[in-house]
Order: sequence, then structure tokens, then C-alpha cells
Amino acid sequence: MFKSFLIKYAEIGVKGKNRYLFEDALVQQIKYALRRCEGEFSIRKTKGRIYIDAETDFDYEETIDNLKTVFGISGICPMIYVEDEGFEKLCATVIQYMKDVYPQQNKTFKVMARRARKNYPLDTMEINRELGGVILDAFPDMKVDVHNPEIELNVEIREKIYIYSETIPGPGGMPVGTGGKAMLLLSGGIDSPVAGYMISKRGVKIDAVYFHAPPYTSERAKQKVIDLAKLVSRYSGPIYLHIINFTDIQLAIYEKCPHEELTIIMRRYMMKIAETIAKETECLGLITGESIGQVASQTMHSLAATNEVCTMPVYRPCIGMDKQEIVKVSEEINTYETSILPYEDCCTIFVAKHPVTKPNLSIIKRHEKNLENVIDGLMETALNTRETIVVRCEK
Ligand code: ATP
Ligand code: MG
Repeated sequence: MFKSFLIKYAEIGVKGKNRYLFEDALVQQIKYALRRCEGEFSIRKTKGRIYIDAETDFDYEETIDNLKTVFGISGICPMIYVEDEGFEKLCATVIQYMKDVYPQQNKTFKVMARRARKNYPLDTMEINRELGGVILDAFPDMKVDVHNPEIELNVEIREKIYIYSETIPGPGGMPVGTGGKAMLLLSGGIDSPVAGYMISKRGVKIDAVYFHAPPYTSERAKQKVIDLAKLVSRYSGPIYLHIINFTDIQLAIYEKCPHEELTIIMRRYMMKIAETIAKETECLGLITGESIGQVASQTMHSLAATNEVCTMPVYRPCIGMDKQEIVKVSEEINTYETSILPYEDCCTIFVAKHPVTKPNLSIIKRHEKNLENVIDGLMETALNTRETIVVRCEK
């Protein structure tokens, strides 16, 4: 029965003059989400509200599912609207609405009228009272509860009359595009897709970089990362994914540096390369899926050593999360199943048996000197031969 939705948004309502920017970004993201849905929709933005109308047949469940991926939406209210054809007609409409939406007819309710149009013949108190009475007459098992009703029946008198009573929770957060852009270091693991999702929930647009090491890592490991980017882009909008061939750099490190420091040194070059691309593409920060203590390269000491090469802020939204908590989010956003596919990762191929957990920065730097003659050229080649693809969620 519903063909329209009122979109509620919380945080962005309070942003003063910037409000229009936020609303426009939200509309943009709603369009991106609806493009994946069957049917045609129109979106109206009026007076601090956003309405979606289905213009053709559409799939209700699919539409709701996709709207739930739009950050900034706090609630989705399926709604009907009718022409104002007098109060009698409104009473009949409301009774029909209650019949259709609550067939059991044994709930507590209150009517919440609002008048955006002040020339309506009844004021809000009168509308509440009259409609409440009509509902009680029609459904003897319904009861009024003004404090804690099961049903809050909203009746808004505008140019038309809007009726809604259900709110489906949205994802919250801020609309993507309102918070600048950051570069996600995206591996095939569980954590980095979650990190990307969490940052984009705060309104930040993301690009991504993936380091692979052919032939040590396979085409399907690369495809897995593309698939993960696709899953994240359901929430974040299209992602520019930069794929860097890291093989020669890894081999050089492997050949010239102590093996227990491989991971840290490799991570430092990854950060450097990611930052170079980030600067070229107007990103304001880097994002990783690191979490303190998860592995040797993520102790406080190791993170400090990795971080030392960066001049940009590095955001690590998973930093204080347990693996289980990260897994839970990855299940919710549907990346888990893909993340656990057992394809080799470029970090795991060259790992030492006993990596350092308390790397000493001056020793690391001394060992990095062994790469002095080759590393600049190798980094330049890695950057110049990168492949960039735009990943977007189609369905
Ligand atoms: P993830 O599950 O995200 O892979 P992880 O627990 O496997 O994390 P590491 O492999 O130590 O941890 O990587 C830490 C972070 O470094 C990752 O979250 C990711 O942001 C980045 N990273 C690691 N490997 C790569 C890679 N091959 N390409 C891009 N980023 C990477
Ligand atoms: Mg990993």
C-alpha cells in the first residue's frame, strides 16, 4: 500500500547554514541507492524534509534494504498522502489506514497532528482529539496511550495530508560527501573493509589502494579485493581503487633487510605509496584496519614505527575493537564471507617466523639504508604502473 517514504535525518539537521549541503549530499546518496532498485522514483526536498515517491511499480523490501545503506538517514517512514477533501474524508482515510497497517486492531495509539498549513479549519489539538475518537469508535480494542503508545499516528497537514506511523531505523551517520575524502588501504582481510565502512559512515568519501605481488599473489586474490570494494561501495558510493604492483619492492626488502623486520619495513613503504596517491587525489587522510595488539605489526611499537613515515593523519577506526567485534560489523555489512576466502595475501607470503614486536626505529631506518640505491626507482615504477578502476555497487 505504501508508495512514498518520509526520510528522517538526525545529526545533519543541526548544522546551521551548512544544512543545504548536507541535504543535497543525502539526496545524492539516496539517488545512488535507488538506482539499484527496480522502478522509478522521484525525490522531493522541502522544508527540512526529504520525501521519496515511487513513480512506477517497485519492490518494497528491496527499496527499504537499499535505503538502509544511506548514511545520514536515521529513519525511513513508509507513508501515504491524500488530497485534502475535508475532514470527513480524512477520518475515512485514517480508518482505512489503521485497518490496512494494523489488522489485529488491538494496540495502544496516539494521534500526532501537525499543521504546516495554518489555514486548516481544525487546530492540532482538535485534530488529535477528533481522529482519536474516530479510531476508538471504529476499533473497540484499540486504546489511547499518550505517553507510551505502540502506534504513533502522524497526520501532517501540508498542501496534501501525510499519514505515517512506522519508522524503520536507518544506518545513522552523516551523508557521504560531506566530510572530505580519505584513502583506504584495502587488503583482502576482515578489518580494512570494516574500517572503510566506519569512516564513510562519518560522511567521508573513500578511495582505496591495494598492494598485490604477482605472481606470488593471484588474480583471484585481486578479484577478491575488488569484490570487497564493491561491497563497501554499497555504503560509501563509488570507490576509485588503485592497484599497486608491490612485488619488486617486496623482493628488494626480502633480499636486503633482516627478515624479522620485513613486515614493518614493507608496511612503511605501503604507507608512503598510499600517501603519495592520497596527496595526488586530494585525500585528507589515510585509513587502515589496524587494531592494537592484533598481530606483531600492530603493537603500539610497530604502529609507531609504521606511522612515522606518514605526514597525513592516519585513521584507524578498528583500533580499539576486538576481532570478534570487527567480525560482527563485517557480517552486518556482508563483507565477512568474502574476506575469509582463503586466497594468499601479499603480506603473508614474505612473513618471517618471528617478526619483531618492538621494532626500534633507528635500527629499522639503518636497515632501510640498504635499499637506498633502488627504492626510489622502485616506488616510482610502482606508482607509474598502477591500475586504477572505479568500483561501484550495481545491485
Ligand atoms: P585486514 O583484515 O584488513 O587485512 P589484518 O589483520 O590482516 O587486516 P595486516 O595484514 O597487518 O592486518 O594489515 C593491517 C592493515 O594494513 C590492513 O587493515 C590494511 O589497512 C593494510 N594492508 C595490509 N595489507 C594490505 C595490502 N595488501 N594492500 C592494502 N592495504 C593493506
Ligand atoms: Mg591482512
